Amino acid sequence: MVPVADAHTHSNPVKGLGMEKIAPKFKEAGGWFLAVVGLSPWHYGMEGTLENYERALKVVLAEAERAREAGLKASALFGFHPADVDKLLGSMSPEEVLSRGLEVLKIVEKYLAKGDLDGVGEVGRQHYKTTPVAVVISEMIMNRALEVARDYGAVVHLHLEQGGRITALDIKDRINRTNANKEKVVVHHARGKSLEAAVEEGLVATVPGVKGSLERAVKLEPLYMIESDHIDDPKRPGVVVYPWEMARVQRELLEEGLVDEDYLWKINVENIKRTYGVEGP
Ligand SMILES: [Zn+2]
Ligand SMILES: [Zn+2]
Repeated sequence: MVPVADAHTHSNPVKGLGMEKIAPKFKEAGGWFLAVVGLSPWHYGMEGTLENYERALKVVLAEAERAREAGLKASALFGFHPADVDKLLGSMSPEEVLSRGLEVLKIVEKYLAKGDLDGVGEVGRQHYKTTPVAVVISEMIMNRALEVARDYGAVVHLHLEQGGRITALDIKDRINRTNANKEKVVVHHARGKSLEAAVEEGLVATVPGVKGSLERAVKLEPLYMIESDHIDDPKRPGVVVYPWEMARVQRELLEEGLVDEDYLWKINVENIKRTYGVEGP
């Protein structure tokens, strides 16, 4: 079986399993690479102050290091999630929330410059109904994140609505306007028509590694990657999928003749090497 990569995951050493437990299980199941994406400070039991965003970023660096110690390759990403915009608007003005998001990106830049951090994410747009001003703030932060990623040759993960072709066209346009590196802008958690449109528009995307989404995905060109988007929250165990479950699902697709090894190699190894700039397994 082809080595399996998780192109977007989380780990929570404070409230959840953490990399100490996740990494050996993933490796045992045939995993070779994880992109560890930051959670917002409150997931790690902290309030959303600027200082705590930096502390949360350091948690991600430590978790990626733990994955490497377990013999995996890992990239570390940190950003300002669109849901943070809504949460902070509960107690801050729109201008204050925007500047909090941009300040967090400045911290992100500092760690990208040092070479400690590998990418920016999550940033993007809400996938649920919210206020127009929250969307505008989120988009301003996303645009800045695309520029930061471009300046440091870093990967950036976009959390977006499942808007099909419209989402893909909008992101393509933002990439062109910011002159970002298309290979490093990842439309994360794309499913069904949204994944289809992303692939057709030449965008890099990740699809959740669950059977239903993958059965549709494998009909497309092998230009995307697979993610667990595991939130490592004990209140929602196994959401979206455990990283170590992804190998089993892909083996089933192989046994059912829906994919071949060459296809799986492309999405689990070749595409990861290109987007994350890591050496293969
Ligand atoms: Zn997301
Ligand atoms: Zn995520």
